Amino acid sequence: MAYAWTAIDPDGFILESHYNTISSLFPSALRSEVFALLHGLDSLPRNSKITVATDCAQLLSLWSLYVEVPFIPRILKESNHLLWSSVRYIVSQKSLDVTLIKVPAHADDTLNNHVDVLVKAAHTDSQTSSQGLSEPLAPCILQFNSLSVDMNIRKFIRDIFDAKSLLTLAVLPRFNFNSSIFDINWACTKFCFNNNKQIFSHRNSRSEFCAFCIKLLLDMLPTLTTLQKRKPHFYDPSWLCPQCNSFPETLDHLWTCPYILPEFSPLNTFKTLLLDLRTNYLDSLLFATPLISLPDSFVDEFTAIDCWKCDPPSISCLRLTHGLIPLSLTGFLRTYFSPSTIGLS
Ligand SMILES: [Zn+2]
Repeated sequence: MAYAWTAIDPDGFILESHYNTISSLFPSALRSEVFALLHGLDSLPRNSKITVATDCAQLLSLWSLYVEVPFIPRILKESNHLLWSSVRYIVSQKSLDVTLIKVPAHADDTLNNHVDVLVKAAHTDSQTSSQGLSEPLAPCILQFNSLSVDMNIRKFIRDIFDAKSLLTLAVLPRFNFNSSIFDINWACTKFCFNNNKQIFSHRNSRSEFCAFCIKLLLDMLPTLTTLQKRKPHFYDPSWLCPQCNSFPETLDHLWTCPYILPEFSPLNTFKTLLLDLRTNYLDSLLFATPLISLPDSFVDEFTAIDCWKCDPPSISCLRLTHGLIPLSLTGFLRTYFSPSTIGLS
């Protein structure tokens, strides 16, 4: 990421030019513009009167929103709020008289073109030293892991707590009981759970369904194994599946017990629902816009993913039954589709 500015006198003669690169965790075109403004203002002597010409309309609107007015807490919701606070601080401390004007972009404005050339030079010039916001001038700076937080603070804190909650969920022993949790795409699982309006709509008696889905995800449905943990005085911990008497009766065992007669087992319904899900998902993927053109083998490869193998159910298939999205599915789809199409963001 790079920025540049050029200072001219009232007669149009160039007084000084500057360009450099910026290290940033969250690069954006607007951040470059704000940084150029900040650096340009910081280079001025006290009590200067200056007119800043920019082709960035957003810079003007944010300036009038956050710099020309008294401090408002809403600035902390803005990306680059540390840069804007620093701009406020410099303008105030140096008593600068600043006016911003808009020049048209790509309109062959000589000075605008000159600055664009400088920005390109910043990218190719090996002499530039990447400049970060190591010492922001904002009066209050929130840091996380020694990094200044220059994004919407409320959203940042919410994301941190979301990530902590998800981590707490992911390391629960129940998910690690028989196999590693590294085959689960937790981000996608969270996205699907949060965005499934059917689950969280409390109308039309959906609250019971919501409770069922959560119990299914957390393995809390009253299988014999769960009851043995909850009421060991009623359910002897040594009891095994009443059908085969060979394995503990877990939720997964309900789909894999060899002694359950097919006609009395919900396994057939389960298989039908899973294959319907596969068909519907495939149909919507074929209508979505892929990142690269889909090969002829796409349908065969998609239908062969191990999470659809339900007779007998694979580990990925059992994960999917709980509402846990397997990495084998999202890993395959990421080759062809953007994260938002497959529900990763
Ligand atoms: Zn059994």
